[in-house]
Amino acid sequence: ADWVKGRTVLVTAAGQGIGRATALAFAAAGARTVATDINETALAELAEASGIETRRLDVLKDADVRDAVAEVGPVDVLFNGAGFVHSGSILEMKDEDFDFAVDLNVRSMIRTIRAVLPGMLERGSGAIINMSSVASSMKGVPNRFAYGTTKAAVIGLTKAVAADYVGQGIRCNAICPGTVESPSLHDRMRAQGDFEAARAAFIARQPMGRIGTPDEIADLAVHLANATYTTGQAYAIDGGWTI
Ligand code: NAD
Repeated sequence: ADWVKGRTVLVTAAGQGIGRATALAFAAAGARTVATDINETALAELAEASGIETRRLDVLKDADVRDAVAEVGPVDVLFNGAGFVHSGSILEMKDEDFDFAVDLNVRSMIRTIRAVLPGMLERGSGAIINMSSVASSMKGVPNRFAYGTTKAAVIGLTKAVAADYVGQGIRCNAICPGTVESPSLHDRMRAQGDFEAARAAFIARQPMGRIGTPDEIADLAVHLANATYTTGQAYAIDGGWTI
């Protein structure tokens, strides 16, 4: 149960929300945790936590990703947290928004996995955890065309990587949350005009009658790193949304 203890964990999008909670949870579990983001102000605050190193990393940039992995050294656990929610149906979607969603939500994970996987294969072990969503191949969610399409791709790439390397000590799983408290969720609530009405609608999606916490998602991430007999799975953690 303590496979992660003493391992090196690379977390992307660790500045806030789920990524931040996940970096703190891995550090608390005894891992050497490298927390990365493009928001250096947020990272500076995180740098004070024990067991955490911080580094700026823009996952949209191939060279940045390669440099970061070279600098960090052997990565045992990769947590791919970066993702952005665009609103709108297929007819409302702008092509440039879709391109951005593919780049940040999907290609970023391809970049980081390509950078860490050769080292994991050399050592014969590694765990990769990708942030997907219930809004994916699990569930069609209104007004989330670009997001749901790209988060479905995250499940597909998770399973493809798992299948290719299952015999070589690599595990690759996806986490599919329902609605989770985060700064970007609050931005989406504000963007809808009536914050309280938007909040009530987000709460109503979960039969548990509440929004999840980043810590609840972080617990699952640490569990999946430790779960040495599971790979290729997409784990819903959603207050019952997909029951
Ligand atoms: P968030 O959206 O509030 O924060 C995202 C972080 O990503 C920020 O710190 C930001 O600076 C960073 N970031 C943005 N572009 C980056 C880049 N190019 N390189 C590196 N970092 C970058 O966090 P959240 O809402 O907790 O979401 C985290 C992940 O969980 C995302 O993939 C999201 O799609 C997924 N998710 C969130 C929810 C939710 O309800 N919050 C639900 C399901 C899935």
